[in-house]
Amino acid sequence: RKFVYDFTEGNKDLKDLLGGKGANLAEMTNLGLPVPPGFTITTEACKVYLESGSEPAELRDEVSAHLAALEQRMGKRLGQSDNPLLVSVRSGAKFSMPGMMDTVLNIGLSDTSVAGLAAQAGDERFAWDSYRRLVQMFGKTVLGVDGDLFEEALEEAKQAKGATSDLGLDAADLRQLVEDFKQIVLKEAGREFPQDPREQMDLAIRAVFDSWNGERAKLYRRQERIPHDLGTAVNVCSMVFGNLGPDSGTGVAFTRDPASGQQGVYGDYLQNAQGEDVVAGIRNTVPLADLERIDKPSYDELMQIMETLETHYKDLCDIEFTIERGKLWMLQTRVGKRTAAAAFRIATQLVDQGLIDEAEALQRVNGAQLAQLMFPRFDEAASTELLGRGIAASPGAAVGKAVFDSYTAVKWSRSGEKVILIRRETNPDDLNGMIAAEGILTSRGGKTSHAAVVARGMGKTCVCGAEELEVDTKRRRLTAPGGVVVEEGDLVSIDGSTGKVYLGEVPVVPSPVVEYFEGRMHAGADDADELVQAVHRVMAYADRVRRLRVRANADNAEDAARARRFGAQGIGLCRTEHMFLGDRRELVERLILADHDDERANALDALLPLQRQDFIDLFEAMDGLPVTVRLLDPPLHEFLPDITDLSVRVALAESRKEPHENDLRLLQAVHRLHEQNPMLGLRGVRLGLVIPGLFTMQVRAIAEAAATRREQGGDPRAEIMIPLVGTVQELELVREDAEKVIAEIEARHGVELGLKLGTMIELPRAALTAGQIAEAAEFFSFGTNDLTQTVWGFSRDDVEASFFTAYLEKGIFGVSPFETIDRDGVGSLVKHAVEAGRATRPDLKLGVCGEHGGDPESVHFFHEVGLDYVSCSPFRIPVARLEAGRAAS
Ligand code: PEP
Ligand code: MG
Repeated sequence: RKFVYDFTEGNKDLKDLLGGKGANLAEMTNLGLPVPPGFTITTEACKVYLESGSEPAELRDEVSAHLAALEQRMGKRLGQSDNPLLVSVRSGAKFSMPGMMDTVLNIGLSDTSVAGLAAQAGDERFAWDSYRRLVQMFGKTVLGVDGDLFEEALEEAKQAKGATSDLGLDAADLRQLVEDFKQIVLKEAGREFPQDPREQMDLAIRAVFDSWNGERAKLYRRQERIPHDLGTAVNVCSMVFGNLGPDSGTGVAFTRDPASGQQGVYGDYLQNAQGEDVVAGIRNTVPLADLERIDKPSYDELMQIMETLETHYKDLCDIEFTIERGKLWMLQTRVGKRTAAAAFRIATQLVDQGLIDEAEALQRVNGAQLAQLMFPRFDEAASTELLGRGIAASPGAAVGKAVFDSYTAVKWSRSGEKVILIRRETNPDDLNGMIAAEGILTSRGGKTSHAAVVARGMGKTCVCGAEELEVDTKRRRLTAPGGVVVEEGDLVSIDGSTGKVYLGEVPVVPSPVVEYFEGRMHAGADDADELVQAVHRVMAYADRVRRLRVRANADNAEDAARARRFGAQGIGLCRTEHMFLGDRRELVERLILADHDDERANALDALLPLQRQDFIDLFEAMDGLPVTVRLLDPPLHEFLPDITDLSVRVALAESRKEPHENDLRLLQAVHRLHEQNPMLGLRGVRLGLVIPGLFTMQVRAIAEAAATRREQGGDPRAEIMIPLVGTVQELELVREDAEKVIAEIEARHGVELGLKLGTMIELPRAALTAGQIAEAAEFFSFGTNDLTQTVWGFSRDDVEASFFTAYLEKGIFGVSPFETIDRDGVGSLVKHAVEAGRATRPDLKLGVCGEHGGDPESVHFFHEVGLDYVSCSPFRIPVARLEAGRAAS
């Protein structure tokens, strides 16, 4: 096995092995772009280290060989006292991870080589400043010294000198600062700062390996669902300097605007600075366009390179570069993060430019992004108090209480408060607070600052660099230009699409994408903006290629109509219990409590016409499309009064000697029907078999509604679904009764209704015996909510609020199995049932109607196992359509 690759040996497809950064450095090197020479240590080496606790035996020699080659090419040795080669050591996993150790610069400097660097650069101050940075970064990230100690010492040195920035410190000051920093290292880390350059390099490499398992990195991976066993690569790159004077500098750039997708010159440049100064947002940058004035040849070359990269990667790229005394160097590129809106726009722009085809465009967007675009926005017509504006870093409209630190953000959000995290700038320590907050507001830093990059990645609303707002985290307050003060707990609203920050709660309006799906805005019409056009085109393509059909979970005509506008191809689940709430609850109560057949018959007779009208409305809204009506499912106690309330009422009446005949009778019934475990009790088909006439009343209502619709000239396509079946016998009993009722109604109306009868598969036994059940079912619909509950033994109503957080933190699963299908467990039962069911009945129709039907990742699974359709709530239909298209292409 080879553990080290020179930049000339890799390419962009080796991300698993070389990490994203390493693979792209290699790709740029091979494109002939100016990349400082270097090499990458593979993720394999990291994995060996993490598993065994030590580097693979071969690593040292391989690193030595690559270092020797690098030294030869550069004509100087690492840390050579008169002319030192300096390197950076940077982490670089397959997926970019802001929670990880990033970079140690200037490795190779020591008490002796600092003089060599000074001579080489002709600049003593620069050399000591570089050494100062090395001791600081190395101390913090490699030796684990509290970074604030260095910052405080730097601050003291500036104060002693009366300087406002580090530029006010001269060579002698910095030389003293290096001494102070070395003392801090000795005191805090219990060891000297290493003078041996190779030891510096080896320790930095090991620190990168270790950072893979840092707490912040682990948290970030859980949040982003990145597997924990990938490991990180390490890039060792020869140093170039952006802080060698005014003809040097460093910057970041995007080949297009990551917020809108528009082509143009986007980025920030900082003269006479090193890379981390830009990313940390510590000093204020100038727009990239200004570089044209500062250094035209470098600017022109950069523009040329950006075009090369975009054409080569066929996508938006982001770039880090440095100019050293007028020579441009590329330090990094990658396919850039972007907002949801930009993703759709860029995908269609690239199709129009002929760079990608429609199938590829579909892979460039995803359901989570589409869902984001369906969020409401702030109402522009509302009266608002503008506090100020910053950079629109990540879109969305967020409202919450102002908090000024991560800890409070987490604490308040746990107690159900919505919060906006306000910081001067964020760093990886703020990650928890960013996750907890509705949105993030910073007063410093540009589009590439930590806050902006991380928020975009999380899909969180973010406004950054609102410099006119003065953030005082110590006193927990923000002061706006007019003198308005926002204290901790005050409501603020931030608009990540415009960068505006408002005092108080601003009302929100629907998104244009929802308006488009609702049919209130037409792509191609004058008022349709570019985003709606892009969504329209991508959706049309997804619809053309997808195999899965998409239905809606809807219980009333209104939802059904919306679902249809959103593209639903029928109803996959109408939960009839939702039709029995409100005024009708009392009728159900009567039905349940009936002592005699005629009492029960009376209650059913009263319910029948109501149900029939429900179905007529539903069939009309979905005319011509299948409508799956599920017979009554939930536990009975949901329809009865609360046992405690009722007991109190009875006891009170007794003590007051008031009449309480009815309440007492009710209480006895409630006691009789009380279950310790109602989710596993008398519900679904069990209810239908125990309460005579209930299911046949519902079947009658469905059949009569269908017959009525026929007579009205409609085309009803009803499917009757039986819930919570565990054995084929249950289904056969219900089917027998149902068929009699249907035959009677068909005969009376002289029509064939073509009603289908099927079942939900939502118990493990049903999935395991699906071959038998298919004898009596014309369709299956997987109830993955109950199936997940019963396969895991997790109470679906309780676990998410109880121990799931602990499970997610421990990494037992990366996401709740109620949200994304558990492929290995629940999924394998689904797969078995699909195969067994089709073996019995080849034309068995198969769908899913649990929450998973609208979850992007799960949709891919249902495509793979060969279901015919997914069914989900109306608002998730566009997401399901898009993901079904992505799964098929
Ligand atoms: C299910 O269990 O997945 C399902 C769709 O039914 P319900 O959520 O109504 O129990
Ligand atoms: Mg269910």
